[in-house]
Order: sequence, then C-alpha cells, then structure tokens
Amino acid sequence: MGPPLKFAEAFIDDVAQVLKRLLQKQRRIDPQNPYAAALYVLDQQEETMVGRMVRVPKKAKAANTEKKAKNPVAHAEMNVICYARKKLYRALNKPVEKRKNFCLFVNTRPCPMCTAAIVNAQIFNVYFFFENGYRKDISEAIIRAKQADIAAKQKEEGNSGTRQQLRTFTFQELDSKWKDEIRRLSKEPRAKSQAK
Ligand SMILES: [Zn+2]
Repeated sequence: MGPPLKFAEAFIDDVAQVLKRLLQKQRRIDPQNPYAAALYVLDQQEETMVGRMVRVPKKAKAANTEKKAKNPVAHAEMNVICYARKKLYRALNKPVEKRKNFCLFVNTRPCPMCTAAIVNAQIFNVYFFFENGYRKDISEAIIRAKQADIAAKQKEEGNSGTRQQLRTFTFQELDSKWKDEIRRLSKEPRAKSQAK
C-alpha cells in the first residue's frame, strides 16, 4: 500500500458535501443501497499534493443505481468509473509520470468487485470515510492478485515500458470530522412499520 495523501481540510469539506448530497438523495431513492462515490484528479504530483484538486469531469460522482438501473453491478464506484471512462482511458495511455493522479472518495470501503475494477482502471488513491464489513485483507489480496496478473502479462509481452508501470495502491480510511455524519447518512433509514 502506498503512503496516504495529506488533504487540506477545505478540500475534504468539499468532498464530504458532495457525498452528503448524493447520500441524502439516495436515501429517498434506494435506502437499501446507501453508497456514493466521487472521483477527483490531482493537479500536481501526488506526494506534494495537499488539497489543490479539481473535480473532473463534472459527472464523475455517482450513487449506487442497482435498483434504478436494474443492474446488480451498478455500484457507486462502478458508475463513477463508467462516467469518467474516457478520461481514465486517456490517462492509462500516457507514460506513468505524465498521468493525472486520480483519487476516488467513497463513503465506505469498496466491495471486492469494485476493488478489482478500481485497480483495473488504475485509480491509485482510494479514500473512504469509515470501515464497513468489507475486510481490508480481502481488499489487499485482490490488489496484489491484479498487480501480479498485470506483471505476468507484461512479462509475456516482453513489455518493460512505462505504459503499464506498476505503482502502489492506497485504500485508506480518512481521519475526518465528517466520519460520523457520513456514517449516519450511510445507515438504512428505519422502515416505517418499525418507526411507530
Ligand atoms: Zn461495489
């Protein structure tokens, strides 16, 4: 796992507001799937980056749409990758040092399916506001397996170039004042019959 990035508080405030709005809406549309994701791109090299980020493209934020789209893979992270696919694809074809650094924020740890998709899209920085039932060790095993796969493929193709150069992935829980609020919004609202 790579080192965690340091973010300016104002930047995290902005991220939290984006996720909050998505979650508030989601609670009305599909309370059983309270998940939201937002993709940002760092405008500088990651190690020196402290919060000067721009959100791109405009639509790179999404909630879970499993119910609305009648699609069991329409998780928030998958949707965000689909919305941003052109930008991500262009970034993948640039040399590693020229690539924009994509940073994904989610309310809670991505599931195994989304973890694999995130690694495949080479989004190296993933931050979530709180841990849920998805285990860290499973997430890390998926990342290692995907990386080993990419390395094996490169070897077979005799490609030691920079296009697919491997970097470390960071999946990290944010230490944030927003944690409790985001967690509260991520809980299923109580059913009406129980609320009496
Ligand atoms: Zn998922």
